[in-house]
Amino acid sequence: MIDLHTHSSVSDGTESPADLIASAARAGLDVVALTDHDSTAGWAEAAAAAAFLGIEFVPGMELSTRFGVKSVHLLAYYPDPLNEALVDETDRIRQARLTRAETMVARLSEDFPISWHDVLAQTQPGTSVGRPHIADALIEAGVVESRADAFERMLHPQAGYYEPIYAPSPVDGVRLVRLAGGVPVLAHPATRGRDNVLDARYLDALVDAGLFGLEVEHRENTEDGKAYLREFAASRGLAMTGSSDYHGAGKPNRLGENVTSPEVFAAIRAAAGI
Ligand code: AMP
Ligand code: ZN
Ligand code: FE
Ligand code: FE
Repeated sequence: MIDLHTHSSVSDGTESPADLIASAARAGLDVVALTDHDSTAGWAEAAAAAAFLGIEFVPGMELSTRFGVKSVHLLAYYPDPLNEALVDETDRIRQARLTRAETMVARLSEDFPISWHDVLAQTQPGTSVGRPHIADALIEAGVVESRADAFERMLHPQAGYYEPIYAPSPVDGVRLVRLAGGVPVLAHPATRGRDNVLDARYLDALVDAGLFGLEVEHRENTEDGKAYLREFAASRGLAMTGSSDYHGAGKPNRLGENVTSPEVFAAIRAAAGI
């Protein structure tokens, strides 16, 4: 069982990298990728835990990119964590995540009992901060029941508190990952159905820039969206992955609920020169 998309407390998952790997071993995974948002800070701890527990660790990241108002997530496997351009860009995104969250909290604090300090209390030094941490502070304050509740009520872009994150374009993201030696796979491209996947011409620009695959099997891709992605991947020779996007207790997604085939995993490794 190969699961190539998970989050630890380095970003918005709820388990430490070591605990996440232990959960992966318990769930019966043979291979697990850690793909924290815009950070590689969990790799060393996860790799050590995986070596100890005898499962294969794949170093990854979920890079934030933006296409107009659309937030587009790009999975990157085996990028060089010391690549200067990648380090600079992810530092910039994580810094922007902090100031953006502070802006959102300032707006929220007019209507709800929540302060920036309350949000920081939900993070550790260096955490790649996101809306889920604001959600956790709202749960702690007794305002909402769950992260899902917070996203539904006040964290979605139309609720009036939202602020976008600085992020490179998807094409620049694909180039950045490739130049760092990584293998780029577009994360959950069809969460809003087949009509809201990035348009085919732009997807082709991503393919030209070096996109390797599409994450097709993901619980949030709609069924008609998956059908479209399968057609598109087949016609362009793109790999198709499946993964859980596990966030620990932060989301219902369970480890191994979607998996990637050994053949596709081997192709990803080969593309990374592993
Ligand atoms: P941000 O990085 O601040 O844009 O927040 C996006 C993150 O929030 C993604 O990683 C999602 O996994 C997470 N997220 C989005 N919707 C929900 C939800 N309904 N419940 C829990 N987490 C969510
Ligand atoms: Zn996340
Ligand atoms: Fe994502
Ligand atoms: Fe994710």
